Amino acid sequence: AKIKVGVNGYGTIGKRVATAVSKQDDMEVIGITKTRPTFEAKTAAAAGLPIYVPAESIPAFEKAGIAVAGTVDDMIAAADVIVDCTPGNVGPEYKEKYQKAGKKAIFQGGEEHGLTGVSFNSTANYKDSWGMQFSRVVSCNTTGLLRTLSLLDKAYKIQNAYVTIVRRAADPGDSKTGPVNGLEPSVSLPTHHGVDVKSVLPWIDITTMAIKASTTLMHIQAVVVKLGKEVSTDEVLDLFAKAPRVRLVSSKDGIKSTNQVMELARELGRDRSDMYEICIWSDGVKVVGDTLYYYQAVHQEADVIPENVDCIRSMCKLMEGPESVAKTNKALGIDH
Ligand code: NAD
Repeated sequence: AKIKVGVNGYGTIGKRVATAVSKQDDMEVIGITKTRPTFEAKTAAAAGLPIYVPAESIPAFEKAGIAVAGTVDDMIAAADVIVDCTPGNVGPEYKEKYQKAGKKAIFQGGEEHGLTGVSFNSTANYKDSWGMQFSRVVSCNTTGLLRTLSLLDKAYKIQNAYVTIVRRAADPGDSKTGPVNGLEPSVSLPTHHGVDVKSVLPWIDITTMAIKASTTLMHIQAVVVKLGKEVSTDEVLDLFAKAPRVRLVSSKDGIKSTNQVMELARELGRDRSDMYEICIWSDGVKVVGDTLYYYQAVHQEADVIPENVDCIRSMCKLMEGPESVAKTNKALGIDH
């Protein structure tokens, strides 16, 4: 039987998780939750997704002519796994509900690691969530860092890593955050991103800083890593070229900036023009002695989506990590 997945919170991440899960042959979306009858509730209904709402919201949905399948509690009861995509810090209140119903649940990076005690990344620690009732898929930035740092650590043993993150100010569909014209340094140092990497790979010595920039498309991470041995730039490029969910791009091919990375994503014709892979500029990778420098771009709306699918398989003990990564990739049109 297919794993029954309920998606709680149908925003930037939730709607993408619902689409990605519905493309797998070993799991199905049994419902999503919406609190208000917005255009997204209408597109979800048009896509055939059963919509569950808080009891007090039923009249508003009926008035808007959107069919309601039941309450949020009904969806929790019907699911094997709930992927909780509610805004950060809403998770704790739902965790109690999932616990009471005896259901498995995945939380997102806006929640604290302590909520679940285990955090997830497909390449770095797939097996840590094996059979677990609760796990947490780390944030978009942390997912990006783990994709490449976990491989570098395995191959060359990382001595330390310093990362500067230039963060997007808001998601493209958002109008509530900024800055809309400026650069805003995160002054509380070091930023939480490095700490979050350690929630998955505790032994990595990493420090991060971040600057919010007036862009919505992607984050860029400028990474400096001291490796345990001297290697050539070509060797590192070869490692990145073979890495799962990592894509090499080149300014020589006309990809000089994040807007061109997203133009490539549109050309690939994926759902919502998503770039699931972490994009590394091949001509911006350089090793000097034992120190490696590179830039990578993170599509914040998309990179955690395949990880949520893999996390479901790990928690339900469906298959090993590399098999799950390959299966998810195939279903989502990711090359490797
Ligand atoms: P969002 O605001 O786009 O979506 C959240 C959804 O939850 C909305 O549909 C909202 O109506 C709904 N919601 C709000 N309160 C609710 C409640 N009490 N019960 C049920 N539904 C409720 O948020 P998002 O960007 O999708 O973020 C969701 C989570 O994913 C957060 O933990 C966030 O940190 C994490 N995350 C976000 C991004 C990103 O760049 N957007 C990337 C990675 C991880």
